[in-house]
Amino acid sequence: MLCFDVVGPAANDPYSFRCKVCAKDVSCAHQGERDLTRHVGGNAHLSKFRAKSAVTPITFVKQDSHTDVQARKADVKFTGFLAEHNLPLATADRPPRLTDSLVVS
Ligand SMILES: [Zn+2]
Repeated sequence: MLCFDVVGPAANDPYSFRCKVCAKDVSCAHQGERDLTRHVGGNAHLSKFRAKSAVTPITFVKQDSHTDVQARKADVKFTGFLAEHNLPLATADRPPRLTDSLVVS
């Protein structure tokens, strides 16, 4: 039984298919379905398939609040200000406390 969920149509070639696992277009102009089964059963495809199957996606539970985003933008702007005016690095530890007090939640 063929596993067609890892392949789709190629963008510009009607005689090719797109392998989602390998992220490349593979020609099936020569033997059609046999080209597909040969590719899916090949060592290169299977090793990539196993590698992708072993990876668990990282889910980020915490969403940045509007205040966090504003504080981060203020930190970046303040750091840019320090670099632009060549201010001493001793002032670099001030932005977190400064922006926390400036950003209104
Ligand atoms: Zn593949």
